[in-house]
Amino acid sequence: MNDKKIALVTGANKGIGYAIAQGLAASGFRVAVGARDDARRTAAVEKLRACGADVFGVALDVASDESVAAAAATLGRTGEGLAVLVNNAGIAGRLGSGAQDPTTLDLDNVRTVLETNVLGVVRVTNAMLPLLRKAESPRIVNMSSNMGSLTLQTGPILAAYAPSKTMLNSITVQYARRLADTNVIVNAACPGYVATDFTGFQAPRTPEQGAAIAIKLATLPDDGPRGGFFDDEGVVAW
Ligand code: NDP
Repeated sequence: MNDKKIALVTGANKGIGYAIAQGLAASGFRVAVGARDDARRTAAVEKLRACGADVFGVALDVASDESVAAAAATLGRTGEGLAVLVNNAGIAGRLGSGAQDPTTLDLDNVRTVLETNVLGVVRVTNAMLPLLRKAESPRIVNMSSNMGSLTLQTGPILAAYAPSKTMLNSITVQYARRLADTNVIVNAACPGYVATDFTGFQAPRTPEQGAAIAIKLATLPDDGPRGGFFDDEGVVAW
Protein backbone atom coordinates (compact mmCIF):
# COMPACT_ATOMS: atom_id res chain seq x y z
CA MET A 1 0.00 0.00 0.00
CA ASN A 2 1.44 3.34 -1.09
CA ASP A 3 -0.01 6.20 0.95
CA LYS A 4 1.73 8.99 -0.96
CA LYS A 5 -0.36 11.62 -2.69
CA ILE A 6 -0.39 11.34 -6.48
CA ALA A 7 0.60 14.21 -8.79
CA LEU A 8 0.24 14.24 -12.59
CA VAL A 9 2.56 16.35 -14.74
CA THR A 10 1.84 16.65 -18.45
CA GLY A 11 4.75 16.87 -20.87
CA ALA A 12 7.00 15.49 -18.14
CA ASN A 13 9.46 13.61 -20.34
CA LYS A 14 11.81 16.59 -20.68
CA GLY A 15 12.47 20.23 -19.91
CA ILE A 16 10.53 22.04 -17.20
CA GLY A 17 7.95 19.25 -16.89
CA TYR A 18 10.67 16.71 -16.12
CA ALA A 19 12.08 19.04 -13.44
CA ILE A 20 8.59 19.54 -11.97
CA ALA A 21 8.13 15.76 -11.80
CA GLN A 22 11.51 15.39 -10.11
CA GLY A 23 10.77 18.23 -7.68
CA LEU A 24 7.31 16.96 -6.73
CA ALA A 25 8.75 13.48 -6.14
CA ALA A 26 11.40 15.05 -3.89
CA SER A 27 8.54 16.79 -2.03
CA GLY A 28 6.96 13.42 -1.24
CA PHE A 29 4.52 12.87 -4.10
CA ARG A 30 4.17 9.75 -6.20
CA VAL A 31 4.38 11.33 -9.64
CA ALA A 32 2.60 10.25 -12.81
CA VAL A 33 4.90 11.19 -15.70
CA GLY A 34 2.52 12.17 -18.48
CA ALA A 35 4.08 11.93 -21.93
CA ARG A 36 2.77 11.16 -25.40
CA ASP A 37 5.71 9.19 -26.77
CA ASP A 38 6.25 5.70 -25.34
CA ALA A 39 10.04 5.64 -25.72
CA ARG A 40 10.55 9.17 -24.37
CA ARG A 41 8.21 8.46 -21.43
CA THR A 42 9.94 5.19 -20.55
CA ALA A 43 13.36 6.84 -20.72
CA ALA A 44 12.24 9.67 -18.43
CA VAL A 45 10.67 7.29 -15.92
CA GLU A 46 13.84 5.20 -15.80
CA LYS A 47 16.02 8.28 -15.37
CA LEU A 48 13.82 9.67 -12.59
CA ARG A 49 13.72 6.30 -10.80
CA ALA A 50 17.52 6.10 -11.02
CA CYS A 51 17.55 9.39 -9.06
CA GLY A 52 15.31 7.80 -6.40
CA ALA A 53 12.03 9.39 -7.52
CA ASP A 54 8.76 7.48 -6.97
CA VAL A 55 7.26 7.84 -10.47
CA PHE A 56 5.23 5.90 -12.99
CA GLY A 57 4.49 6.61 -16.63
CA VAL A 58 1.10 7.51 -18.06
CA ALA A 59 0.54 7.70 -21.82
CA LEU A 60 -0.89 11.16 -22.39
CA ASP A 61 -1.28 13.24 -25.54
CA VAL A 62 -3.09 16.37 -24.38
CA ALA A 63 -4.36 17.03 -27.91
CA SER A 64 -6.25 13.71 -28.07
CA ASP A 65 -9.63 13.07 -26.42
CA GLU A 66 -9.00 9.31 -26.48
CA SER A 67 -5.55 9.54 -24.97
CA VAL A 68 -6.70 11.87 -22.18
CA ALA A 69 -9.71 9.66 -21.37
CA ALA A 70 -7.45 6.61 -21.24
CA ALA A 71 -5.01 8.43 -18.93
CA ALA A 72 -7.85 9.37 -16.57
CA ALA A 73 -9.01 5.74 -16.54
CA THR A 74 -5.45 4.58 -15.79
CA LEU A 75 -5.14 7.00 -12.88
CA GLY A 76 -8.64 6.07 -11.70
CA ARG A 77 -7.53 2.46 -11.37
CA THR A 78 -5.02 3.49 -8.68
CA GLY A 79 -8.07 3.92 -6.46
CA GLU A 80 -6.55 7.17 -5.18
CA GLY A 81 -7.56 10.76 -5.73
CA LEU A 82 -5.32 13.08 -7.72
CA ALA A 83 -3.73 15.64 -5.39
CA VAL A 84 -1.93 17.70 -8.04
CA LEU A 85 -2.33 18.34 -11.76
CA VAL A 86 0.37 20.37 -13.50
CA ASN A 87 -0.70 21.29 -17.03
CA ASN A 88 2.83 21.82 -18.32
CA ALA A 89 2.75 20.42 -21.88
CA GLY A 90 3.04 23.23 -24.39
CA ILE A 91 4.31 24.07 -27.85
CA ALA A 92 5.57 27.24 -29.49
CA GLY A 93 4.20 26.31 -32.89
CA ARG A 94 5.98 26.77 -36.22
CA LEU A 95 8.20 29.85 -36.08
CA GLY A 96 9.75 30.40 -39.54
CA SER A 97 8.53 32.11 -42.74
CA GLY A 98 6.29 34.62 -41.02
CA ALA A 99 4.18 31.83 -39.52
CA GLN A 100 3.71 33.87 -36.33
CA ASP A 101 3.82 37.35 -37.83
CA PRO A 102 0.24 38.60 -37.34
CA THR A 103 0.22 40.11 -40.84
CA THR A 104 1.05 36.77 -42.48
CA LEU A 105 -0.29 34.47 -39.80
CA ASP A 106 -0.60 30.78 -40.59
CA LEU A 107 -4.04 29.99 -39.20
CA ASP A 108 -3.36 26.26 -39.05
CA ASN A 109 -0.38 27.07 -36.85
CA VAL A 110 -2.69 28.99 -34.51
CA ARG A 111 -5.16 26.10 -34.41
CA THR A 112 -2.38 23.63 -33.56
CA VAL A 113 -0.99 25.82 -30.79
CA LEU A 114 -4.41 26.47 -29.26
CA GLU A 115 -5.25 22.76 -29.44
CA THR A 116 -2.29 21.95 -27.20
CA ASN A 117 -1.74 25.04 -25.04
CA VAL A 118 -5.39 25.89 -24.30
CA LEU A 119 -7.80 23.13 -25.31
CA GLY A 120 -5.31 20.52 -24.09
CA VAL A 121 -5.41 22.09 -20.64
CA VAL A 122 -9.21 22.13 -20.59
CA ARG A 123 -9.37 18.55 -21.92
CA VAL A 124 -6.96 17.21 -19.27
CA THR A 125 -8.39 19.28 -16.43
CA ASN A 126 -11.97 18.20 -17.06
CA ALA A 127 -11.00 14.56 -17.42
CA MET A 128 -9.04 14.70 -14.15
CA LEU A 129 -11.51 16.77 -12.11
CA PRO A 130 -13.41 13.76 -10.72
CA LEU A 131 -10.10 12.38 -9.43
CA LEU A 132 -8.98 15.79 -8.16
CA ARG A 133 -12.24 16.19 -6.26
CA LYS A 134 -11.47 12.91 -4.46
CA ALA A 135 -8.25 14.37 -3.01
CA GLU A 136 -8.05 16.28 0.26
CA SER A 137 -6.42 19.52 -0.99
CA PRO A 138 -6.24 19.37 -4.78
CA ARG A 139 -4.12 21.86 -6.72
CA ILE A 140 -4.03 22.64 -10.44
CA VAL A 141 -1.14 24.57 -11.96
CA ASN A 142 -1.25 25.82 -15.54
CA MET A 143 2.15 26.55 -17.12
CA SER A 144 1.77 29.91 -18.76
CA SER A 145 4.28 32.53 -19.92
CA ASN A 146 4.83 36.23 -19.41
CA MET A 147 4.58 36.40 -23.20
CA GLY A 148 0.86 36.00 -22.61
CA SER A 149 0.76 39.18 -20.55
CA LEU A 150 -1.17 42.00 -22.21
CA THR A 151 0.65 44.40 -19.88
CA LEU A 152 4.26 43.27 -20.23
CA GLN A 153 4.36 42.45 -23.98
CA THR A 154 7.69 40.67 -23.57
CA GLY A 155 9.64 38.58 -26.06
CA PRO A 156 9.44 38.36 -29.84
CA ILE A 157 6.20 38.76 -31.79
CA LEU A 158 4.64 35.29 -31.74
CA ALA A 159 1.03 35.71 -32.78
CA ALA A 160 0.10 32.05 -32.26
CA TYR A 161 1.99 31.33 -29.04
CA ALA A 162 1.61 34.55 -27.00
CA PRO A 163 -2.21 34.80 -27.31
CA SER A 164 -2.47 31.09 -26.43
CA LYS A 165 -0.95 31.88 -23.04
CA THR A 166 -3.18 34.96 -22.62
CA MET A 167 -6.16 32.67 -23.17
CA LEU A 168 -4.72 30.11 -20.80
CA ASN A 169 -4.49 32.78 -18.09
CA SER A 170 -8.10 33.73 -18.76
CA ILE A 171 -9.21 30.09 -18.62
CA THR A 172 -7.33 29.76 -15.32
CA VAL A 173 -9.45 32.58 -13.88
CA GLN A 174 -12.63 30.96 -15.19
CA TYR A 175 -11.75 27.67 -13.46
CA ALA A 176 -10.79 29.45 -10.24
CA ARG A 177 -14.14 31.28 -10.19
CA ARG A 178 -16.12 28.14 -10.98
CA LEU A 179 -14.28 26.18 -8.28
CA ALA A 180 -14.21 29.02 -5.74
CA ASP A 181 -16.43 27.21 -3.24
CA THR A 182 -14.48 23.95 -3.49
CA ASN A 183 -11.10 22.85 -2.16
CA VAL A 184 -9.63 22.78 -5.70
CA ILE A 185 -7.12 25.63 -6.04
CA VAL A 186 -6.16 26.69 -9.58
CA ASN A 187 -3.35 29.08 -10.56
CA ALA A 188 -1.07 29.86 -13.49
CA ALA A 189 2.73 29.92 -13.36
CA CYS A 190 5.44 31.68 -15.35
CA PRO A 191 8.74 29.76 -15.28
CA GLY A 192 10.91 32.60 -16.60
CA TYR A 193 13.20 32.15 -19.59
CA VAL A 194 14.45 28.58 -19.31
CA ALA A 195 17.08 26.59 -21.20
CA THR A 196 15.13 23.71 -22.77
CA ASP A 197 14.45 22.38 -26.28
CA PHE A 198 11.74 25.05 -26.39
CA THR A 199 14.31 27.87 -26.33
CA GLY A 200 17.07 25.99 -28.15
CA PHE A 201 18.76 25.83 -24.73
CA GLN A 202 19.62 29.54 -25.20
CA ALA A 203 18.16 30.93 -21.98
CA PRO A 204 19.57 31.85 -18.57
CA ARG A 205 17.42 29.76 -16.23
CA THR A 206 17.71 26.04 -15.51
CA PRO A 207 14.69 23.71 -15.75
CA GLU A 208 14.87 23.34 -11.97
CA GLN A 209 14.59 27.12 -11.56
CA GLY A 210 11.68 27.16 -14.01
CA ALA A 211 9.98 24.34 -12.10
CA ALA A 212 10.17 26.03 -8.70
CA ILE A 213 7.09 28.28 -9.06
CA ALA A 214 4.98 25.36 -10.34
CA ILE A 215 6.02 23.23 -7.37
CA LYS A 216 5.22 26.10 -5.00
CA LEU A 217 1.73 26.54 -6.49
CA ALA A 218 1.19 22.75 -6.45
CA THR A 219 1.83 22.68 -2.72
CA LEU A 220 -0.08 25.80 -1.63
CA PRO A 221 -1.81 25.75 1.75
CA ASP A 222 -5.63 25.65 1.84
CA ASP A 223 -5.80 29.44 2.23
CA GLY A 224 -3.51 30.00 -0.77
CA PRO A 225 -4.32 32.34 -3.66
CA ARG A 226 -6.75 31.31 -6.42
CA GLY A 227 -6.87 32.28 -10.07
CA GLY A 228 -3.56 34.17 -10.00
CA PHE A 229 -0.55 34.30 -12.31
CA PHE A 230 2.75 34.00 -10.48
CA ASP A 231 6.49 33.78 -11.01
CA ASP A 232 9.31 33.52 -8.47
CA GLU A 233 8.91 37.20 -7.60
CA GLY A 234 5.18 37.01 -6.92
CA VAL A 235 2.15 38.19 -8.91
CA VAL A 236 2.78 38.74 -12.65
CA ALA A 237 0.84 41.62 -14.21
CA TRP A 238 -1.13 40.41 -17.17
P1 NDP B 1 9.98 21.55 -23.97
O1 NDP B 1 9.78 21.72 -25.42
O2 NDP B 1 11.35 21.20 -23.44
O3 NDP B 1 8.96 20.45 -23.39
C1 NDP B 1 7.61 20.50 -23.75
C2 NDP B 1 6.95 19.25 -23.25
O4 NDP B 1 5.56 19.28 -23.66
C3 NDP B 1 7.55 17.98 -23.86
O5 NDP B 1 7.53 16.96 -22.89
C4 NDP B 1 6.58 17.66 -24.98
O6 NDP B 1 6.55 16.29 -25.34
C5 NDP B 1 5.29 18.06 -24.31
N1 NDP B 1 4.16 18.15 -25.24
C6 NDP B 1 4.01 18.96 -26.30
N2 NDP B 1 2.84 18.69 -26.92
C7 NDP B 1 2.26 17.68 -26.22
C8 NDP B 1 1.06 16.95 -26.35
N3 NDP B 1 0.19 17.18 -27.36
N4 NDP B 1 0.76 16.01 -25.43
C9 NDP B 1 1.64 15.74 -24.42
N5 NDP B 1 2.80 16.38 -24.25
C10 NDP B 1 3.11 17.34 -25.15
O7 NDP B 1 9.45 22.91 -23.33
P2 NDP B 1 9.62 23.57 -21.87
O8 NDP B 1 9.93 22.53 -20.88
O9 NDP B 1 10.52 24.74 -22.00
O10 NDP B 1 8.15 24.15 -21.66
C11 NDP B 1 7.22 23.61 -20.75
C12 NDP B 1 6.09 24.62 -20.57
O11 NDP B 1 6.62 25.85 -20.09
C13 NDP B 1 5.34 24.95 -21.86
O12 NDP B 1 3.95 25.07 -21.58
C14 NDP B 1 5.91 26.31 -22.26
O13 NDP B 1 4.99 27.08 -23.02
C15 NDP B 1 6.17 26.91 -20.89
N6 NDP B 1 7.17 27.99 -20.91
C16 NDP B 1 8.49 27.75 -21.21
C17 NDP B 1 9.40 28.79 -21.20
C18 NDP B 1 10.86 28.57 -21.47
O14 NDP B 1 11.63 29.56 -21.41
N7 NDP B 1 11.32 27.34 -21.75
C19 NDP B 1 9.01 30.16 -20.88
C20 NDP B 1 7.59 30.31 -20.56
C21 NDP B 1 6.73 29.25 -20.58
P3 NDP B 1 7.42 15.71 -26.59
O15 NDP B 1 8.80 15.46 -26.07
O16 NDP B 1 6.68 14.46 -26.93
O17 NDP B 1 7.39 16.74 -27.69
